[in-house]
This record gives sequence, structure tokens and C-alpha cells, in this order.
Amino acid sequence: MQTIDLAIVGAGPAGMMAAIIASKRGLNVCILEKNDRLARKLLITGKGRCNVTNLEIDNKQFIDNFGKNGKFLYSCLSQFGVEDTISFFESLGLPTKVERGNRVFPASDKASDVVRVLEEELKKNKVEVEFQSKVKDIQKKYGYFEIVTNRSKINSKNVLIATGGKSYPQTGSTGDGYPLARNLGHKIVEAKPSLVPIIFREKYIKELEGLSLKNVKITISRKDKVLASRFGEALFTHNGMSGPIILDLSRELTKNVDFANCDLILSIDFKPALSKEELDKRILADFAKFKNKQFKNCLGDLLPAKIRPLFVRLSKIDPDKQVNSTTKEERTWLINLFKDLRFTIQGVGSFDEAIITSGGIDLKEINPKTMESKLVRGLYFAGEVLDLDGPTGGYNLQVCWSTGYVAGSSIACEELT
Ligand SMILES: Cc1cc2nc3c(=O)[nH]c(=O)nc-3n(C[C@H](O)[C@H](O)[C@H](O)COP(=O)(O)OP(=O)(O)OC[C@H]3O[C@@H](n4cnc5c(N)ncnc54)[C@H](O)[C@@H]3O)c2cc1C
Repeated sequence: MQTIDLAIVGAGPAGMMAAIIASKRGLNVCILEKNDRLARKLLITGKGRCNVTNLEIDNKQFIDNFGKNGKFLYSCLSQFGVEDTISFFESLGLPTKVERGNRVFPASDKASDVVRVLEEELKKNKVEVEFQSKVKDIQKKYGYFEIVTNRSKINSKNVLIATGGKSYPQTGSTGDGYPLARNLGHKIVEAKPSLVPIIFREKYIKELEGLSLKNVKITISRKDKVLASRFGEALFTHNGMSGPIILDLSRELTKNVDFANCDLILSIDFKPALSKEELDKRILADFAKFKNKQFKNCLGDLLPAKIRPLFVRLSKIDPDKQVNSTTKEERTWLINLFKDLRFTIQGVGSFDEAIITSGGIDLKEINPKTMESKLVRGLYFAGEVLDLDGPTGGYNLQVCWSTGYVAGSSIACEELT
């Protein structure tokens, strides 16, 4: 049986990047992919537009977004950083554009174009891709690896595990990399869903389903101690909330919270730009405008229609009361609702709806300069299978491009010297 230079498990962004780099440098590369096509998850990224990276040029700031594990990325980013990613795609004929929050997208707004240019590059560099090949076992033999799939056995001098995490399992990311790595002696940090909707205990939340909020401040606290706070857009779901700031807040929960043993509160400030005094003046002005009307009909300029009935209910003000006869005390209660509407957090969503997996292959056992295992020579890791997870905004794909590049070039360097 022929022994190839590099077998890559997984044709996601990390695996494809590594394959392109290693094959360009002359290695004989085969990707084993259990789906019948390349990069199913990449196709749905950024709502089909693919937020390829984030133009956070300063590596330190980029890294700070990944919490304590971020420092693992210093070497990778210095070898292949954000600007390298943009130049790489432009060199493949895919121009990019930058949007709010430094998010970089293909100019065409199509994730399928990202996949297409990668596919063309794989073909150009003669990377073999075996589809519908699920890797079931990897054994280290003397001087090579034996890789067992549902279809065949392959011998390779090097193996790269780029199987992704466990989120959106229907795309093929079902956590297969963890047992494969464990069998080769690696430790796995428990995988948990991250960048995921937050679920509330209050059942009446269902009546707000579909309502989106802009320019709100959302804070998560435990016993009045603030854990995290974000300003921006959010959306009510059938059982809680989702949307950009909620997803980012969920990272704090995934990492630090045992839901069974704590009382966590999510509070919404609907008017973060106004102090309580300013809001009181604004409410008084509205009430003057609507004088002689019933209270329940006077919140139209302050709140979207879908949430008004809830505010009226929680305000403890008689809905039929004439608005100009509400008392200062009643207004104070109403102001508190605007500035601090509280829900009790029950938990977060499952892997089925998580954008990313927190946890994965323990970074202590991987060389950050090469992505090679410190335990098994010739074994490499790249992408989301690693214990690295960043916020939304293109950070997670940049990890795939950087770690994939570093793994591919290190393997080529080892093989060709
Ligand atoms: C809905 C959604 C939107 C997202 N949007 C963005 C975004 O806009 N920007 C961003 O930065 N990040 C985004 N992400 C995150 C990003 O998509 C992932 O971090 C990234 O795809 C991980 O790449 P990967 O190559 O490590 O693994 P994956 O993309 O998960 O690919 C792994 C591949 O390995 C294959 N595989 C697994 N096990 C085996 C096996 N045993 N044998 C053979 N093949 C196997 C799988 O089929 C899969 O093709 C999004 C994620 C989701 C779910």
C-alpha cells in the first residue's frame, strides 16, 4: 500500500487551508471527508455570506477576544494573520469588503464563492478528496499512521485532525475528532455549546417571539453582581433570546456557569442612552401628548407594539387609567421596567443551535508554533477541534485559516527538509 505524505480528516475551512498550503509545497495530500461535498458548514456561515475574518489588525486585541487560551494563537497569527487571509482570498480571485464591526465578507456576499475558490485551488494543486469517507480510527505504526475509514485503510506519514467541533451536527461536525485524539493519548477539555441562544424560565416569553430590539443594553448578573454586559441588537425567541449580543453573552455563561446551582438574571435596558431622570421627562412629555387617553394606549412612541401588553401588565398601573392621572410612584415603577426588565436564565441552547463549540483538544499538548502534537510525532490539529472559541465577527474562521496554514506549512517544512 502506498504511503502518502499527509492525510487530513475533515474538509472544512481548516482542513482545506492546510491541504492547499501543503500541496502547493509539493506534498502528496488526501482529504478524508464523511459528507458528499466540501465544507457544508462554511456554506451557511454569516447567514450564507461568510464573515471570513475580522479586520482586527492588532494581534493582541484579536487574541484578547479568545480569553485565557488566546495566547496560544500568537505564533499562528504572526505566521498567517488577518491581512494574510484577505490577501490569500484576493489572490484566488475573491475580493473582500469590510462592514460594521470590522467584519470582512466576500464582495459578492456569497459563502458559496469562498467554497468555490478553495475547491478550485484544491483541484489545481491535485489534492485528492475522498468523500463519504468517515474516519473511524487512527493508529500510529512504526514511522507512519494507519487510518481506517468506513471504506478503506490509508497509510500516511502525517495526519491532521480538522474535524471541527460538535455544533450544527447536521453539517458533519459531530465531535469525531475527540475520540480519535483521545485514542492517540490526548486530553479533551469538555465540549460545550457556545455562541448560542439563552433560555428563560418565564413561560410568557413566548408572546414576544420574533420581536427584535435595536440599541438595547443587556446585562447578565448573579445576586446583583454583573457578569457581563453588551450593547446592540437582540431578538426574542419562543423560549428566550438570541441575536448578536445574546450570542456573545452566552460565551460567558458557557464558560463560567453551572446552571443547576445559580440564580442568573438577564436584564434589558430599553433606553440605555437616557438616565432615569431623562426618561421620566420623556414619559411625561408622551403622557402630556396623549392626555385623556388610557394608559394602555400611551406607550406607542416608546416601545414596539409586541411588548407593550407585557409592559402594561408588569407596570402594575391600571391599563384603563387616564394617563394624565398616573402618579410619580407609578411612573417610577414604569421607568424601572424600561431600564431593568428582568428575566431568569434557565440555561443555554444545545449544540444543534450553537455557532461554535467551547472546549476541545487540550492546547497544552500541542506545539503552538507548528500545530503538531507534543505527544505523537506527525499528528497535527487545526480549526474548531482545538480548545479555542472566539466571539462572533469572523474571529472563529480566522482561527481555522491561521491554524490550517500553520499545520500545512509545518508539515511541508518537516517533510521537505
Ligand atoms: C450557522 C453558523 C454560522 C457561522 N458563521 C460564521 C461566520 O460568519 N464567521 C466565522 O468566523 N465563523 C462562523 N461560524 C463558525 C465556523 O463556521 C466554524 O468555526 C468553522 O466552520 C470550523 O471549521 P473547521 O474546519 O474547524 O471544522 P468544520 O467546518 O466543522 O468542518 C469539519 C469537517 O470535518 C468533517 N468530519 C468530521 N468528522 C469526520 C470523520 N470522522 N471523518 C471524515 N470527516 C469528518 C465534517 O463533515 C466537516 O466537513 C459559524 C458557524 C455556524 C454553525
